[in-house]
Amino acid sequence: MTIAGGEFGLIRRIRQRMNYTGGRVVLGIGDDAAILTPPGGKLLASIDMLVEGIHFKKELITPWQLGWKALAVNISDIAAMGGSPLYALVSIGLDDSADDTYVDGIYEGLMAIANQFDVKIVGGDTVRSPKALVIDVAILGEAEAPVTRSGARPGDLIAVTGCLGNSAAGLTLLLQDTGYRQVTGRGQDVSRGQDIPPGQNCDRRQEPGPKGDWKRMEEESSWASELVQAHLQPVPRVAEGISLAGTGAVSAMIDISDGLSSEVNHIAEESNVGAVVYARDIPVSRALLAAAGAVGEDPLNWALFGGEDYELVFTFPSAAIDAVKEALGRSGGRVYVVGEVLPAGEGVTLVERDGSVRDLLPGGYNHFA
Ligand code: ADP
Ligand code: MG
Repeated sequence: MTIAGGEFGLIRRIRQRMNYTGGRVVLGIGDDAAILTPPGGKLLASIDMLVEGIHFKKELITPWQLGWKALAVNISDIAAMGGSPLYALVSIGLDDSADDTYVDGIYEGLMAIANQFDVKIVGGDTVRSPKALVIDVAILGEAEAPVTRSGARPGDLIAVTGCLGNSAAGLTLLLQDTGYRQVTGRGQDVSRGQDIPPGQNCDRRQEPGPKGDWKRMEEESSWASELVQAHLQPVPRVAEGISLAGTGAVSAMIDISDGLSSEVNHIAEESNVGAVVYARDIPVSRALLAAAGAVGEDPLNWALFGGEDYELVFTFPSAAIDAVKEALGRSGGRVYVVGEVLPAGEGVTLVERDGSVRDLLPGGYNHFA
């Protein structure tokens, strides 16, 4: 490992960049513990770890994107409670290949998203991890009235905040290395996907981050890069979560880390209800349809089982639809109704485009399967 000044040199550099002392951070990085001003509302706490080889492959993600994503997935958990993220602690386990440039890249990405969402990084831990790079982020946030997974009631509508499946499609493009090059070769040919009936269209633009030194990003077609970016640089839906919680009408909420199928099942289990999801209503992007046509995948598989979209899934009484639409509209979002909450005995099902009904089984990635 060639980290200038070793562990303490690294911490010194991190500390210089993240000196937030003042404002609500009474004391930031550098002492045995940070001193923080507690929020006025409820305090939210969550932690999520990214492990090389399980959650990411170093050759497919730039250090900047890795830093971004490590914090993004944690901010998303706070968003899913309808909360504002406040403070984060970042533990990092570095393998022997990590050098200053790599670690600085991670912290640039961390700081970019921290600044965008006004999160203060107030501490962490730095260790050697010879077998795999590990980033573990703990986050604290606040919410006046947090929204849990357990409040869904039969008759509620089930909705999502945006396009599903983009992240999984992006990962597929990244992993199918040869296929991916072919895809980029005919990248402008979006018509290939057009024979697949689209769901609700959900396209909206997001700002790309710096692309590091990763050349393939430059060669990509616009739709392939949109999907790859959705996977590598997800944007948590914080404003949307706060607006939704603010309506007082949202009965349950969760973010999509494992896939819509898994998240709907989580809500059903925690709320002790059933649910039905309509395939034709699932919002998909033009990019997703283009990729599906190009690699011969069913876009619905990506949208239902792919995961890592970090959109929000939420439920609310149908009478509140106008209030919910208006609230999401104010934060620049849109409501995509995809299903309905049913009594527990009805189970969790999917209505296919042809009207046939099948069980909707949780299909996200299971670490211990
Ligand atoms: P201790 O031995 O008390 O755990 P450390 O030397 O690990 O102290 O940490 C010193 C300070 O640097 C603490 O404030 C800690 O939170 C912070 N810190 C250590 N590693 C990181 C990191 N990777 N990112 C942010 N802050 C860190
Ligand atoms: Mg320590």
